[in-house]
Amino acid sequence: MAKDGTCKASGCTRQVVGKGYCRKHYRMWKAGEMPKPRYKTCTAENCHKPRAYGSLCEEHFIARRGKAPAAPAAAAPQASS
Ligand SMILES: [Zn+2]
Ligand SMILES: [Zn+2]
Repeated sequence: MAKDGTCKASGCTRQVVGKGYCRKHYRMWKAGEMPKPRYKTCTAENCHKPRAYGSLCEEHFIARRGKAPAAPAAAAPQASS
């Protein structure tokens, strides 16, 4: 199990600079030369969790907004007569 701070590219043990990759692999990743995860990941630095809300995982969304987003108002209150 790779420990935190090590590039996730196989066989690479350099220090992580972004998205779980070292500087060299991060550049390759940005250039589209690294295999991308099946799901889009959270945009928070060093976070590899799948996105839950917008571009953030649930943890980071809550960290930034203070709470999870309200459920869509499926049953919006309507004045019935
Ligand atoms: Zn690397
Ligand atoms: Zn996150």
